[in-house]
Amino acid sequence: MSGGPKFLALCGGIGGAKLALGLDRVLAAGQFTVVANTGDDFIHLGLHVSPDIDTLLYTLAGLDDPAKGWGRRDETWTFMKAIEALGGESWFLLGDGDLATHVERTRRLAAGETLSMVTEAFRQRLGIASRILPMSDDAVRTRVRTDEGWLDFQHYFVRRRCEPRMEALEFTGAASARMAPAVAEALADPMLAAIIICPSNPYLSVDPILAVPEMRDALAARSVPALAVSPIIAGQAVKGPTAKVMAELGLEPSAATVARHYEGLIDGFMVDTRDADVEVPTGMRAFAAPTLMRSLEDRIDLARAVLAAGAELAGASR
Ligand code: GDP
Repeated sequence: MSGGPKFLALCGGIGGAKLALGLDRVLAAGQFTVVANTGDDFIHLGLHVSPDIDTLLYTLAGLDDPAKGWGRRDETWTFMKAIEALGGESWFLLGDGDLATHVERTRRLAAGETLSMVTEAFRQRLGIASRILPMSDDAVRTRVRTDEGWLDFQHYFVRRRCEPRMEALEFTGAASARMAPAVAEALADPMLAAIIICPSNPYLSVDPILAVPEMRDALAARSVPALAVSPIIAGQAVKGPTAKVMAELGLEPSAATVARHYEGLIDGFMVDTRDADVEVPTGMRAFAAPTLMRSLEDRIDLARAVLAAGAELAGASR
């Protein structure tokens, strides 16, 4: 365990996990904690699926599939083929290896473990140095109001491929959810040096985390610098529906819109060098770096740039 400064990141799935991997590689064991969105969690085929936690587990353990961009590498699909043959639900793809994660998680939860405990056990088994924590052990479920009516998140995201027009979002259970105990401890750690919001979808991945009142309050009352990395580069999402969602919610898809979204919660906003002229709200400082993460080196370079920006903000406030 390192006695050095500590860092805490808020993260969704694929986009956020890229930066989380960079931070995991740059920081020593014990220095980095990543808080995952659980608004995407759902019960499927009787199993508790936690897509963003699993993306982090697989990514940080080197088990992720860079070709597919989701799930595990070297995955096999016997279960999927069998369930399809039986006429079972096959719209959410569950590889055989991935299935083991959900089965074991569901078993442990039924035996009385919290989601934090299960995630910690998996992290240790998979040899991951950084801590991965669910934002809350209480159920928070993202629901999407669309032109086809209210949809549970995975029905909107996977089954309907984000095609319905989004009108509003709701995070059921968030108002009464407590942040996970280890998240509270990490935020109160006197060695905490900065809070980082990963380049995840601000509306679908980060807002569910911020919808937990203690999480938003902790960020608003932070005593260390907080900074976010824009998931929007030159007006476009690198991948996924972020720009589509922004347009449907009546927002201009730009890095500046994301900066305004986090107003009051962050001190620094990291954009891509292509957006270096971004306008940020008063009291927020903009930083620019290459933020498109293709290789592991890109992830590490951006992690270093984020940590340097955090140190600069800390120095300026001293
Ligand atoms: P999801 O839950 O799997 O959709 O993942 P996230 O919410 O964590 O990530 C989705 C966001 O990541 C999208 O808005 C993408 O634009 C963003 N993203 C993906 N790759 C990159 C990248 O290399 N750089 C930056 N800046 N953003 C990225």
